[in-house]
Amino acid sequence: MNLSMNNTMKLLAGLALLVVTAGSALGQSKPLRILMVGGGGSHDFGRWYGQEDKKTIESTGKYSVTYTEHTDSIPAYLKQADLLILTNNQPISAPGQAAITKFIEKGHGLLLLHAAVWYNWADWPAYNLNYVGGGSKSHEKLQEIKNLVVNSGHPITQGVPAKFEFVDELYRFVPDPTAKGIEVLVIGQSKETDAVYPGVFTVNHRKAKIAGITTGHDERSHEHEAYKTLLINAVNWIAN
Ligand SMILES: [Zn+2]
Repeated sequence: MNLSMNNTMKLLAGLALLVVTAGSALGQSKPLRILMVGGGGSHDFGRWYGQEDKKTIESTGKYSVTYTEHTDSIPAYLKQADLLILTNNQPISAPGQAAITKFIEKGHGLLLLHAAVWYNWADWPAYNLNYVGGGSKSHEKLQEIKNLVVNSGHPITQGVPAKFEFVDELYRFVPDPTAKGIEVLVIGQSKETDAVYPGVFTVNHRKAKIAGITTGHDERSHEHEAYKTLLINAVNWIAN
């Protein structure tokens, strides 16, 4: 009787182990936690970032995105985040700036979308210098712009057409020569003036992986397949 109970216990333990092993083999790991910050002027942040981009990123099954426009909650949210996406042009208070700085300097990744690559905050010059590698102070008139992949070997441009067009604001992004440098992956060209600016790039940083996408004014980019692929690729590259 005792022997039989023992064997039953062993069998149950073995089955439990099998279930656990099968679960991890199927990749049922917890999704990576992303904090996305929006809010400010000139854009429908909630619709195109909080809903659309969140949906695009979560469609991979690998990420869980928390969207907020309450910048005072950044320090609390970052304690439970693996990766940060900034899209906002509303101000971030000193505690929020400090929490973001600590987060990135620990080596966590950062993705900058559209309005977040602007020179938004006079009280935080280190943001543009260290995390954006420069910035925009103006943009070309809203129009259909040409996007051209200039580094097809980078993970962020995989599956992206060599050339694609959508209506957006072409930011006049200027790299800061005193910063650590950026690597341009996609350029944007104005059809009206032929002017060319960085459209998608990575930012050199000692510890953190940082990427920027300068387009994203409204649905014409957010619903475009090339934009969606770039967004997912950028998150994947930063997360890995
Ligand atoms: Zn815009």
